[in-house]
Amino acid sequence: MSKIIASSAIRGAHQVAQRAEEELNKALEEYGPEATVELPNTAYFLPVIYAMTGREVETVGDMQDVMDQIHQLLPKEPADRLWTPYLGHTLDAGMATLFADEIIEGIKYLQDPPPYHTEEECPAEGDDFWLGAADDIVFRKRGLEFVDGTAPGFAAIVGAAPDNQTAVDIARELQEKNLYIFMFGSKDGKNMAEQLREEGVQMGWDTRLVPFGKDITSGVFALGFAARVAMAFGGVEPGNFRRNLLYNKNRTFAFVIALGEVDDIKYAQAAGAINFGFPAIADTDIPEILPTGVCTYEHVVSMPKQTEQEKIYDEIVSKAVEVRGLKVEVEEVPVPVSYGPAFEGEIIRRDDMFVEFGGQRTPSFEYLRMIKDSDKVTDGKIEMVGPDVDDVEPGERLPLGIVVDVYGRDMQEDFEPVLERMIHTYINQASGAWHNGQRDINWMRISKSGKENGLKIKHFGDILHARLHQDYGVVADKIQVKIYTDEDKVLEMQQEARAAYDQRDARIMDMTDESVDTYYSCILCQSFAPNHVCIITPERSGLCGGYSWLDAKANYQILPSGPNQPVDKGDTIDENLGQWRGVNEYLKEASRGNLEKFSAYSMLIDPMTSCGCFECISVMLPTTNGIMIVPREYSEMTPSGMRFSTLAGQIGGGVQTPGFVGHSKMYISSPKFIRADGGFRRIVWMPKTLKDEVHDRLSERAAEEGLDNFMEMIADEEVAVTEEEVLEYLQEVGHPALEMDPMM
Ligand code: SF4
Ligand code: ZN
Repeated sequence: MSKIIASSAIRGAHQVAQRAEEELNKALEEYGPEATVELPNTAYFLPVIYAMTGREVETVGDMQDVMDQIHQLLPKEPADRLWTPYLGHTLDAGMATLFADEIIEGIKYLQDPPPYHTEEECPAEGDDFWLGAADDIVFRKRGLEFVDGTAPGFAAIVGAAPDNQTAVDIARELQEKNLYIFMFGSKDGKNMAEQLREEGVQMGWDTRLVPFGKDITSGVFALGFAARVAMAFGGVEPGNFRRNLLYNKNRTFAFVIALGEVDDIKYAQAAGAINFGFPAIADTDIPEILPTGVCTYEHVVSMPKQTEQEKIYDEIVSKAVEVRGLKVEVEEVPVPVSYGPAFEGEIIRRDDMFVEFGGQRTPSFEYLRMIKDSDKVTDGKIEMVGPDVDDVEPGERLPLGIVVDVYGRDMQEDFEPVLERMIHTYINQASGAWHNGQRDINWMRISKSGKENGLKIKHFGDILHARLHQDYGVVADKIQVKIYTDEDKVLEMQQEARAAYDQRDARIMDMTDESVDTYYSCILCQSFAPNHVCIITPERSGLCGGYSWLDAKANYQILPSGPNQPVDKGDTIDENLGQWRGVNEYLKEASRGNLEKFSAYSMLIDPMTSCGCFECISVMLPTTNGIMIVPREYSEMTPSGMRFSTLAGQIGGGVQTPGFVGHSKMYISSPKFIRADGGFRRIVWMPKTLKDEVHDRLSERAAEEGLDNFMEMIADEEVAVTEEEVLEYLQEVGHPALEMDPMM
């Protein structure tokens, strides 16, 4: 343990603490001790302080107690005379630094407007593009990727690269390893995010390049994110700092890359990260902390001590990955551009587009079909019928038909839609390609830079061939792809594809819960909600919206030991509630005895559990005798007095909460939608966007029951934001819920 580091980190901690104290005093004067402090839309208070101490900081006054604790953590003697051989003091100083950071950042959110934007509000031009803390919607979606392995973790980058191209190279290399890149602080007045912005690199949570803030203290948002992952998905109780460290050390692969001089304050921040088991790798010559202890391997590594000067930036990412002990599996997909989940969120705007397909502008479709005859499929054969990118002018549009032929001894027609739906993900993961929609409403673009890097339409075929083999090798023995850009051919094949889509739809539409003896379970979400079980029936899809009964059935057959298992219904216990003996028995076993019974059609009596990834939440509004439905993307206040994030925090985690239930959007128009509680007639409020989305299906469903203008009777945020206003609206329009039996 180096004396220099210890004293440096401790000196830095004192400086940050002093700044926090000054800003806190100012805030007390300006806003008063009662002023509410919150990172927007989160149920985790100031998350590092909450995770480490269990303190729920809600006001400026609450911050004073934290300040006292910071003083206790800081070593007493003047830092410059301090000599300590133990990492312990450095760690305490690091923790004090993080608390002080959070106080400083929390106070920033009291400004009107705060110095941070949501992604939607972030201006496309200029240098004011900092995103600050992730709200709970972003956090749930992204945090889940840390849990399911889509993203192994993150790189927190402080400072800036020596030049813009190096910044782009480092970002790309990290993206290809599927990591999130959190950027903060500055070097000579510059941050890496500004360098990327100058080079036209797309940033935001979707591309995993996240500009937190230019202030060094905004780095605490990275650790706050990690702390929330541990609490939300790892079941770590607030205040249990030891388990928090262990969870992050073992599960979240994160590290700090320090670009530019490491001063005392940066040392103090690095010491804070070591508390999470995250090492720091610097591009400057600084003292190292090599013994293993808190982190998996080294704590602080200096690149100039590891390699020659000119190789520092070529090797800094692989060194960081090695030090953190991350094993990255890079999937081999034979394309000339970067490929991986980090590129999935890349958007190609009109101006950046080289060629475009579909999107209702040209005829297009994508269709995956099973071929019974082995001789008709040559594995790996990719054929183009019509022009490729070299034959068109920039900005042009082409028709596009993609036909994927799959032969496999264990392939079935039922699997076609499951495999076909993956086309979206697979193509999107190529840098320079963008995909949206499915079937014959798909829409694709290849960017100018993709074209420059050698990406061709034909590569779509190579991508699909490689990825389908990787993920569905169990059922797909041979795969060939034919791509049409010739308009007549596209139109001709589109007919065949449409006939197949219609046939598929007819199959699921005809199915009712009564028409089958077997349902399917999904326990995928048990990785973070250990008792959660989804029971998927033909008329009630999984609550994340990702799995219909047919999908679950196909998944089971493709992967018999996977998360979808057949559940024999057995005797009917209660037809109206939707309770069956076989389902309850399965439930008891799959929840390890924690749950006894489930009603498929009630949110009041033994409702299904909610994990965390529900598309919507239904909530009783007692005075209206009805319910409101709020979808995940709606972040405003709802008539229940709670936002989606608060509701999700209350009902998630795999518990039964009568009066609340998480479900898919599809379920809203199902004849089985809370049937035992009165069905769709109970719906009294939905945000406008959700109303539009389910309009056709739900109004058809209402019309079947003789209600012609039901959709207009449902209140939305334009007419009502409180429960009282909802009730007034219902009385005005004569909503049927008012006439129904009391809900409880
Ligand atoms: Fe499976 Fe349900 Fe989780 Fe969706 S929400 S992945 S259906 S357990
Ligand atoms: Zn879930």
